[in-house]
Order: sequence, then C-alpha cells, then structure tokens
Amino acid sequence: MSDKYYRNTVLDVNLGAIEKNYRAVQGINPEKTLIAVVKANAYGLGAKSVSEHLAGAGVTFFAVATLDEAIDLRMHGIKQKILVLGTVDPEHINKAIQHRIAVTAPGLKWLKAAKAAVNETYDKEVWMHIKVNTGMNRYGTSDIDEIKAMIKEINSFDRFIYEGIFSHFTSSDEDNDVTAGQFELFKSIVDEVERPEYVHISNSGGALTLKEDYTTAVRTGIALYGYYPSSWTAMETTVELTPAVKLTTEVSAVHHLEAGESISYGKKYTAPEKETVATLPIGYADGLLRRHNGYTVKLEGGTDCEIVGTICMDALMIRVPEHTDAGQRVRIIDDSEESGQSLESYSEYADTISYESLCTFGRRIPRRYT
Ligand code: PLP
Repeated sequence: MSDKYYRNTVLDVNLGAIEKNYRAVQGINPEKTLIAVVKANAYGLGAKSVSEHLAGAGVTFFAVATLDEAIDLRMHGIKQKILVLGTVDPEHINKAIQHRIAVTAPGLKWLKAAKAAVNETYDKEVWMHIKVNTGMNRYGTSDIDEIKAMIKEINSFDRFIYEGIFSHFTSSDEDNDVTAGQFELFKSIVDEVERPEYVHISNSGGALTLKEDYTTAVRTGIALYGYYPSSWTAMETTVELTPAVKLTTEVSAVHHLEAGESISYGKKYTAPEKETVATLPIGYADGLLRRHNGYTVKLEGGTDCEIVGTICMDALMIRVPEHTDAGQRVRIIDDSEESGQSLESYSEYADTISYESLCTFGRRIPRRYT
C-alpha cells in the first residue's frame, strides 16, 4: 500500500515502542545476538518500516519465513543479515546466494540437492543454519549422524558456510518442563558436533523466561511488537513490554431504529426497543472477524459500545448513545491494558491469540507509523 491513504480506519504502529521492546529483550541477554523475527510482514505491522527502524536502532540480524520475504527486505535496502527460517526450494539456492541471504538446512537430502543446484560460475557463498528437530516435528532432523554428515557436506563445499545450528521451542509460553527437555536435547546434539557462530533456540517465550548461557542468539518476534506470547509468559517474566499497536476507526453513518427493526445480513439482530446504531467502516476483510460479534469497542469519550448484527466484509454496526454523530472516533484496540481494549482481550474474545490477530489485519488498513 502506498503512503497515501483515504480511509478513516487506521492501524497505528508505534516504532518507538518496538525499539523499546527490542532494548528490553536485548537487555536480558546483552551478550546474545537478537534476531528480529519480521516474517509475515512483521506480524502484519509492515516488515519494511519495522526492519528499517530496528536496523537504525542497532538490530544486525533479521529472520523471515520465506525467500520472497527476504528478497523483499533486501530490495528495500535492508543490508543486515537475513535468515529464512522456513523451507527454500533447493533449486532457488542461487537466489539466496545472489541476495546474500542465509537459509535453513533441514536435512542432508536437501543440502545435496541445494549443492547440485548451485550455479558454479557464481562466486559468492550462502550461509547455512542447520535445523535440529527437538520436538516440534515441523522441520529439521534430530539424527546426530545426519547432522554430522550435513556439517561435513557444508564444510567440503566452498559455496556453503556453516554459520548456525538451531531449534524451536513448542511450549516456551506455557510449560517450563517441556522447554527444559527440548533444550537438553538440543544441547546434547550440539555438544557432539562442530559449534558454529550462531546457536539459537529461544523464541520470545524462551528469551523472556529461560536463563541460559549456552546459545549465542535469540529469535524474537511477538515481544518486539509489545505482546507476551501468553498470559503465562507475562507472569513468568520481569520484562515490561510496550504494546505497539492501536486500531481506530470512525462512525461513518448513524441509524435510529424503532423497536422490532433489524440490522445487517440475515437480520440477526433486532432492536428490543428504540435505539441507535452506528456503522463503522471496518469488516472481516480487515481482519475483524464475524465472531467478534458482541465485542465491545470504545466510542470517543469512553462509552463502551457493543458490536451488534452480522459483521460485514467492509463494515459493522455498534449500538451507540442516541446523539452519536458521523465522524466520531472509535477505538477497537488500544495500546494500554487499562483501557479494556487490549489486543489480548480482542483476541481472546474471538478465541484466538495476539499473533493471529496481528497477522490477519487486512492489507488494506493503512499502517501509520509514529
Ligand atoms: N523462530 C521460529 C522458527 C518461528 O517460527 C517463530 C515464530 O513463529 C519465531 C522464532 C518467533 O516467535 P515469537 O514470535 O514467539 O518470538
């Protein structure tokens, strides 16, 4: 989306808060490299703006999920190290080489295929991070012989650089025992092989709760944006995060209903008495899901207003005081717990998590950076 927009529905992204969170998380592990996870468009907040700001604040290493996301950041001028955490098709390895991007090596077969695909006339290298499977069972291997063979394969080819070895926690936001078990397995594997520059396993949950001096880097996503991975993590950590997001809109129309009149698709809501409803120009195509029906938003001045009737693709209705006017601002998500409009309560209401809420804010909602 271009910088110009003509919508009254806006997602405010506080880059200062993101920087503060970066410093707070880095502060717990000052000796480790903080790998800023900006995949999925920086969890919906805008990977280019977020990465540019964080790079200016001192972040030296970013991670994304796909090669396309990595190339996009490079094309935008991000010069820092970028690691692709997800799968890269071996036949696209030359693109990673060309754009100086580090990739995840999930197994020996993949490495051999990537090696075979390298364009030998190209004189640059690609950094490899070996993925160890410690229980997520999504990517990587836990076979120690395979990992040793992978390191040998990387070290014997001058276009590959053995730069990292890593794993991923399944439950660092809810269970210390599972996390400890995965960490022990990871250490027992890494101890058996050549140790590269970057050894990493912690996501935000791990970075916020696990004290260890074994690894050399942490991969942090959600905490940078000011949200704890779970309420459990919020209680387990002493780190104070600052929410970076506000979602606001404004009343675009007001309708006065007589008792018995219905609204929206399927006429699912009928006014029990004379009442007023206001239309907000935000709907499920913007990420405000149909199951948010009944959720309460805040009218300028502080009045709580319930979402009533079926949420449409581009609009929804709220029950408002009679004298409400078009143009009045409405807060859907606020950046403070006290307002009652937190991302967490918004997510909980729709039976989801902050991660998903952030990622599903529609592309067409303008992001306004402060
Ligand atoms: N590392 C990997 C491999 C991930 O898939 C993710 C996110 O899902 C992260 C790190 C960052 O996780 P979080 O946002 O909980 O910090």
